[in-house]
Formats: sequence, C-alpha cells, structure tokens
Amino acid sequence: MSRTDEHTVYVGLGSNLHRPAHQVRQALTALGQLEQTRLNASSQLYASRPQGPQDQPDFVNAVACLSTRLSPEALLSALQNLERQQGKVKNRHWGERVIDLDLLLYSDWLIDTRALTVPHPQIQQRDFVLVPLLELAPELRCPRTGEPYQKMLAKLPEHFLTPS
Ligand code: AMP
Repeated sequence: MSRTDEHTVYVGLGSNLHRPAHQVRQALTALGQLEQTRLNASSQLYASRPQGPQDQPDFVNAVACLSTRLSPEALLSALQNLERQQGKVKNRHWGERVIDLDLLLYSDWLIDTRALTVPHPQIQQRDFVLVPLLELAPELRCPRTGEPYQKMLAKLPEHFLTPS
C-alpha cells in the first residue's frame, strides 16, 4: 500500500491545564482542519486522575478517528505543530500539559523508528486511552499481537478514569 492511500488513524488527546475540556475540543477542531485529513469521529470527553506525579490537576481525555493521506511521519509532525500552537511546553515526565496528542494507530501499520512507535506502546496500559478508543471502535485489535483491545481493558491492573 502506498503512502498516498487514505489511512484510518486514531489519535489520543489529553489535557490538564488552562480549561482542559476547551483545550481538547480546540485540538479536535484543529485535527479536522489538517491538510489531507478528515475528522471521522471523536469520543466523549473523559476525566482521569493523573498517571504520574499526583500534585497536578485531573486530566480530560478523548480519542479521535481520522482519515488521512499524510504519512505517519508527516502526521506526527502536524500533531507536534498543533501541540506547540496550543502552548505545550516540555516539563516533567508524565507531568501537567496544555495538550498532548499521541498517534495511537495508523491503519494496521507497525512502526518502530527513533521518532515513532505505532501502535503507541502505552495504549494497553491506559484505560483513559482504551475506553475512548473502544467507544469509537469496539472490535479493534492490536495490530502487533492481534489481541482485542477489549480484552486488554478487562485485564488492566490499574484504573485512572474517574466517574463523571
Ligand atoms: P510526549 O511529549 O510524552 O508526548 O512524547 C513525545 C515524543 O514521543 C516525541 O519525541 C515523539 O517522537 C515520540 N513518539 C514516539 N512514538 C509516538 C507516537 N506514537 N505518538 C506520539 N509521539 C510519539
């Protein structure tokens, strides 16, 4: 399959600063305006407690499903541009952020380069990614292992989503 074909991709969004729900909605709008890209669907917004340092606000998370003709590298670069435009600054690991955009899945491609790991390696450890992802695509399986994400969610030892 050539890189100019259209691909279904999933992007994870998270924010816990400067009106997080507003930041996530703004990023969803911006994703739909990327060149050669369509926003097919977005999940509800979910609230989660922080995964890393606990002295930071709770997060708002969502997942978007896009169709794009951008390559994975071009899409990552576009996501990083959007993060910068919304004011993301590098801070402590798993710390607070205005917006975080992760490329979760790019069709069924497996990518392992210095800049990019797809499927995103932390999908299966995070209910705040799995739950919105499964809301959009309940039958989805990990392209690396073939395991249904539904099963991975059922096996999670730790939960971050908070009741809304
Ligand atoms: P973070 O700031 O924690 O979101 O990490 C961003 C870094 O992760 C960047 O240097 C990316 O090149 C790298 N990265 C590797 N795989 C991915 C992915 N699937 N989605 C987003 N960033 C990724």
